[in-house]
Amino acid sequence: MPIRVLSPTVAAKIAAGEVVEHPASVVKELVENSLDAGATHITVEVQGGGIDLIHVTDDGEGIPVLDLELALERHATSKISHESDLQSITSMGFRGEALPSIAAVSRMVLTSRVRGTDQGAYVRVRGSIMERKGAVGCPEGTSVTIQDLFANIPARRKFLRSAAAEAGRIHTIVTQLALAHPHVRFQLVVNGKESFASPGSGNIRDALAVVYAAETVDAMLEVSATDAEGRHAWGYVSPPSIHRANRSAINFYVNRRWIQSRLLLQAVEEAYKGLLMEGRHPVVAMHVDLDPAEVDVNVHPAKREVRFHNEGALFSLLQRAVRETLVAQSPVPLLAPSASSSTPLRWGPAPREENRQEQLPWRRLIPPGEQAHGQERSAGMPATLPALRVLGQASSTYIIAEGPGGVYLIDQHAAHERVRYEKVTQQARERQPEVQGLLEPQAVELQPAQIQTLEEWKETLASYGFQGEPFGESTYLLRGVPNGLKDARPEGLLGELLDLLSQARDPAQANDSVAASIACHSAVRAGDTLSHEEMVALVRQLEGAESPHTCPHGRPTMLHLSANSLEREFGRR
Ligand code: ADP
Ligand code: MG
Repeated sequence: MPIRVLSPTVAAKIAAGEVVEHPASVVKELVENSLDAGATHITVEVQGGGIDLIHVTDDGEGIPVLDLELALERHATSKISHESDLQSITSMGFRGEALPSIAAVSRMVLTSRVRGTDQGAYVRVRGSIMERKGAVGCPEGTSVTIQDLFANIPARRKFLRSAAAEAGRIHTIVTQLALAHPHVRFQLVVNGKESFASPGSGNIRDALAVVYAAETVDAMLEVSATDAEGRHAWGYVSPPSIHRANRSAINFYVNRRWIQSRLLLQAVEEAYKGLLMEGRHPVVAMHVDLDPAEVDVNVHPAKREVRFHNEGALFSLLQRAVRETLVAQSPVPLLAPSASSSTPLRWGPAPREENRQEQLPWRRLIPPGEQAHGQERSAGMPATLPALRVLGQASSTYIIAEGPGGVYLIDQHAAHERVRYEKVTQQARERQPEVQGLLEPQAVELQPAQIQTLEEWKETLASYGFQGEPFGESTYLLRGVPNGLKDARPEGLLGELLDLLSQARDPAQANDSVAASIACHSAVRAGDTLSHEEMVALVRQLEGAESPHTCPHGRPTMLHLSANSLEREFGRR
């Protein structure tokens, strides 16, 4: 379709809004234009967090020479022309607002050559005023250069974060878009260095591998299901063994557009019901492809939310697709297997001694919806352990012990995690972490998004014993780490923590993630053979813990076989 200015009636129907809040929104609009133009390779280059320079190049269909100036006019678009087109939008853009809004607040050069023609053209504008235009030799496709963003509106500039933080936001947007469009090759270059590149193989798993840790990606389960009306749900979900403390790793794409949707979120949570511990969330990258006439994209200024015409059908498609995959590929672990006898043997998580009479299932003892991190006491229940006598170790993983109430099986890793968690939390609160200085400072390469997170949470990290300082643009010099880490590469932990911190909503959650991670990395592992003395020491420490029954992730630290059920099983009663 040629570019045309929309009629005032159509223009008035558009849910218009601020498209240029910060450099990342400029990048999003420009990349979406490249995607709409059918590009297979998109390069984004930024300098100074996008404030000095944003340069987006694509190999898409290009803009005809005669349309170049028109593209910069308000409500000029080649993507819709009639009001009825708003009812079935297949492109990312449709409002004809992005280029003119960006041009109004920057210096812009738009260069393009239509595929199959042999001459390109450019226009150069500053604050919407045309400065120059003409023919130019250039590759097929389009490139847009933005300089001096917001130079003419100091008020907007004041609200920008540091260059590193703005580059981090750009990084996040480009990775989102890469996950939505696995068939497109994306490259992001920040200050002359490649910070992200997706292969464009068409397989989301390859795109996921650029965003998530390899172990996570390898474990992800493929989902694909189509309903009778042709709606298609496809993508990847994590098995129940992989989970996060919040919902930030749950991504939905509707007809390739990243969106936020309560409906789709509920469908997925329903699918995981009973498979995940309360307060834990999966990693999800799910697409839904459906007839564009079934989705209304024109409801939110930044198009982050959409409206579905048939919510029920979509909910059940997604819920069933994910549930079936989870159940088929990852059998449900049984915590309390029943023996064949009429009074089944019950291994249940250990009850608190004071609550022995209550027949409540253990999980109900943690207030619903609350993170299990050491907060059980808020339920008003004391939670100390009785003195236990260590009997031995099973599978180099479980400590077998006996107490007044029967026999206990203790998960050595979970138990040690609990002990370490409480210790590092207390030390951090008192600002007296035990630090292990590194003999040689370790240079850690960080992504722009990680640098942003580091800036934001450096005090928190320091309170747990991370010491060091920035070194150049993208390197951090690590000089000290929390004491007791088992890993040979402490710099790996720093990266992991920064990724967790980037998802933290508040300081409490940030502290929690850091403490839980350090605890995990400094605890004995399943499979470590322990001496009798080591086991006794661990059990003593657990007895002294404030919340001995769960590890920081909410898993039980122990199972209990009561004296009563032993007697019952052996027919003594
Ligand atoms: P919209 O995307 O809503 O149509 P924009 O202001 O973003 O509005 O772009 C205006 C028009 O310029 C588009 O409709 C399209 O025709 C053209 N255009 C912009 N960027 C590109 C590009 N990278 N490749 C081809 N055409 C483009
Ligand atoms: Mg656009």
